[in-house]
Amino acid sequence: MHLLRVDTSNDRRKKIVIIGGGFGGLQAAESLARLPVQITLVDRRNHHTFQPLLYQVATAGLSPAEIAAPIREILARHENIEVLLGEVVGFDLDQRIVKLHGFDLPYDYLIVAAGASHAYFGHDEWEVFAPGLKTIEDALEIRRRVLLAFEIAERRAATTGEHSPLTFVVVGGGPTGVELAGTLAEIARKSLAEDFRHIDPKKTRIILLEAGPSVLAAYPADLRESAKRQLERLGVEVRLNSAVSDLHLGEIHVGGQVMHATLVLWAAGVSASPLGLALGGPVDRAGRVLVEADLSLPGHAEVFVIGDLASLKQAEGALLPGVAPVAMQEGRWAAKQIAADLSGNARKPFHYFDKGSLATIGRNAAVAQFGKLHISGYLAWLAWLFIHIFFLIGFRNRILVMIQWAWSYFTYDRSARLITGADQPVAVPPIEIAEESMDAGSWPDSPSPVSSDK
Ligand SMILES: Cc1cc2nc3c(=O)[nH]c(=O)nc-3n(C[C@H](O)[C@H](O)[C@H](O)COP(=O)(O)OP(=O)(O)OC[C@H]3O[C@@H](n4cnc5c(N)ncnc54)[C@H](O)[C@@H]3O)c2cc1C
Repeated sequence: MHLLRVDTSNDRRKKIVIIGGGFGGLQAAESLARLPVQITLVDRRNHHTFQPLLYQVATAGLSPAEIAAPIREILARHENIEVLLGEVVGFDLDQRIVKLHGFDLPYDYLIVAAGASHAYFGHDEWEVFAPGLKTIEDALEIRRRVLLAFEIAERRAATTGEHSPLTFVVVGGGPTGVELAGTLAEIARKSLAEDFRHIDPKKTRIILLEAGPSVLAAYPADLRESAKRQLERLGVEVRLNSAVSDLHLGEIHVGGQVMHATLVLWAAGVSASPLGLALGGPVDRAGRVLVEADLSLPGHAEVFVIGDLASLKQAEGALLPGVAPVAMQEGRWAAKQIAADLSGNARKPFHYFDKGSLATIGRNAAVAQFGKLHISGYLAWLAWLFIHIFFLIGFRNRILVMIQWAWSYFTYDRSARLITGADQPVAVPPIEIAEESMDAGSWPDSPSPVSSDK
């Protein structure tokens, strides 16, 4: 049965529907809550995810609940906000209706903040071999594969006396790829170093593949160089100008070469939510909506598109980056434009206030840019740490994460090392199959199986 919400109350307040409880949607809701409006926030998940710390869940440093919080709880203090769990599937912009599975929601104003995900450049079939990192579920799947890879190698070595060499490949040298590669190196060289009897985790190869000429392309040249050096110091092999041309179970094709890969993680490309296309306006190559200067959808002043789903150029011509501060400022700006409409004032164009950029690489390793000030290493890492704890949603989470990090800083311990998510956790493809199908010597870039390392 499909229901259209009918308003039977005498509530004459404007109805605002917000799609997405991410950084942009939450900020818009919080800012609008002060106005005499009725707000409905819809999300297909019941929680807000603090995506900058997802890699910590993927690498067993933090547990999911430490970086996520129920949207309902975050907004509970605002009486004029309701939160509905549901998946938006389309729009009727002429009738001003949002279509969801099972029901429709009418609106006076609509804010679409449905975000973006990673892109496989037309090869969606690669996803099964190379998961990306966007949601808690993705992070848990990556954690499962990483931990399983070590377990299977240990079991192999314990029963046969040898095992295939462990090679983890991260595709994409942007901030997510860099932090994943750096942290995987730390796990292999430090956290797990003494935990196995038959394999030596320290011998794990961590390879970071980047199609372009440098990692962290959005950063200035000195910080890009520094990031590469810091990665190499942590034991990551950085391969630049290395575009992936094909991917199969246990192997990855790069520039005519085939490499063995126990595990491939995907951190390349951007693909906007399909809701961008469903809005029917102009979109860029990644499916992001080309919004007007006030963030509205061309031809529909009552619809705003914000955050990772929006495409807007700054005055100098550069596209605004897909980062949390942009989404948050745009959320506040969309709310401000609605307030201007309600009070009969003119709308104004959005300007992004760039407070700086930070990217973490691993323990004591990061780069940061605050205007003309460029810093690398320990100081940048400290700045990254405190800023991310500060912005983490929920006081409880901040305290928990601080304690966890203090503990693991001194002990190298990664306490969330649980393999979960499958009925038969030690017989799960693709790692198991990749391992089983390893034909010694058939990998041009890989040595033969190694004998028990210890
Ligand atoms: C791994 C990773 C690390 C990152 N690290 C950083 C960092 O260190 N610093 C930084 O500034 N930025 C970082 N980012 C980018 C930052 O997280 C994004 O720019 C930001 O989340 C964008 O906010 P948003 O509101 O546009 O979208 P999101 O935060 O992605 O929120 C979108 C919301 O929409 C919901 N949704 C989507 N489709 C539907 C639908 N059809 N129906 C209902 N609900 C839907 C989703 O469930 C989600 O809650 C990182 C991103 C990732 C993936």
